[in-house]
Amino acid sequence: MAIVVQKYGGTSVGTLEKIKNVARRVGKVKDEGHDVVVVLSAMAGETDRLIDMAHDLVPEPDPREMDMLVSTGEQVSVSLFCLAAQGLGYKARSLLGYQAGIQTSRLHTKARIKDIDATRLRQELAQGQIVAVAGFQGLDRFGDITTLGRGGSDTTAVALAAALGAEVCEIYTDVPGVFTTDPGVCPEARKMDYISYDEMLEMASLGAKVLDIRSVALAKQFQVPIHVRSTFEDTEGTMVVNEEKIAEKLMVSGVAYNKNEARITVRGLPDQPGVAAKLFTPVAEAGIVVDMIIQNTSADGLTDMTFTVPKVDFTQAMNLVTELATGLGAADVLGQTDVAKVSVIGVGMHTHAGVATRMFNALAQENINIDLISTSEIKVSCLINEKYTELAVRTLHKAFELDRDAPPREETL
Ligand code: ADP
Ligand code: ASP
Ligand code: MG
Repeated sequence: MAIVVQKYGGTSVGTLEKIKNVARRVGKVKDEGHDVVVVLSAMAGETDRLIDMAHDLVPEPDPREMDMLVSTGEQVSVSLFCLAAQGLGYKARSLLGYQAGIQTSRLHTKARIKDIDATRLRQELAQGQIVAVAGFQGLDRFGDITTLGRGGSDTTAVALAAALGAEVCEIYTDVPGVFTTDPGVCPEARKMDYISYDEMLEMASLGAKVLDIRSVALAKQFQVPIHVRSTFEDTEGTMVVNEEKIAEKLMVSGVAYNKNEARITVRGLPDQPGVAAKLFTPVAEAGIVVDMIIQNTSADGLTDMTFTVPKVDFTQAMNLVTELATGLGAADVLGQTDVAKVSVIGVGMHTHAGVATRMFNALAQENINIDLISTSEIKVSCLINEKYTELAVRTLHKAFELDRDAPPREETL
């Protein structure tokens, strides 16, 4: 008998019929004699609906009230699930984040899990209950409800799996696993049997929303294997594990895209020591995460600085940077929001020179202009015009032969 933690996403619990299907699936695992903890998301579209209502009332809703509001979505799912499971004859009990002992930081709408007191959870399991925990939420030390940020139910599930010492954390979703790229954009995308924590971290940070990045970081830290699989098919999915467990390392294992960034360019900045620090320190202090940065030097002692910020922070960043740039004597500041970042990822890359060249050539052949480039040991990213995102993803997927049975291995490019 083992403790099994399963998480079902919004599309898996989108209707009452789907909730019944989840209850039947969970019931089977219980019948096999396991203790089951089920983490549920809000029903499909519900979190968006709640957020939209708040924005219809005020342009910048108070984060504490937002958490109070959006956490209700998961409360509905867990109670309906327990009713469905009870209807099938099982003992089932729902717990909100705080009842499951999930303590978080205070940062409303993007809180972090600090600790889990699993006493109550263990008691309920000991009494033979299937325990359904509301994903994405917790309680801060002042007794206020917090949420973990969009996609946060994955993190709840992995954190509970770690706290309970579960052998595996199963993430059930609307696709059969982690693919070489978003199967919704590229029909040739192939399911991977294994992916390393590090590659999955890169894929998630570069836009692949199949797993929330914080859940992968937590899984790596506590060595929880994640199994991503389909709610609607009975197939093996993708195991997210340590790199050593993966026999064949591909040069490039995936392509990701992110449409949630915007570009800012400061033109004609004096090219002097300390200018970058003066520009970026106040941006960082405002909690805005700057991603890609590029600086050009020109002969006349002036320089241009271009960087990207999350789209949600664009207006605030533009205001801040315009004020700073004017103070520093820059010529002007330009902003662009219709941009997207496309990336190729692979732990087998080691040197990115060959990969970068192949990437640039593939994009050039489709006449897609590259605005910015950034590289790391296991990824190359390019910023392009948003309207070419899907074309770029499909082009890169083909260029790296990810649609083939035997794509290039380590160092073979
Ligand atoms: P859930 O509601 O179950 O949490 P999400 O919508 O958050 O599901 O994540 C699943 C979606 O992630 C898929 O429907 C797919 O479109 C998208 N996705 C993006 N990149 C990938 C990838 N590399 N592999 C699988 N799915 C991906
Ligand atoms: N319901 C939340 C969201 O839509 C959390 C989650 O589904 O993981 O982001
Ligand atoms: Mg999700």
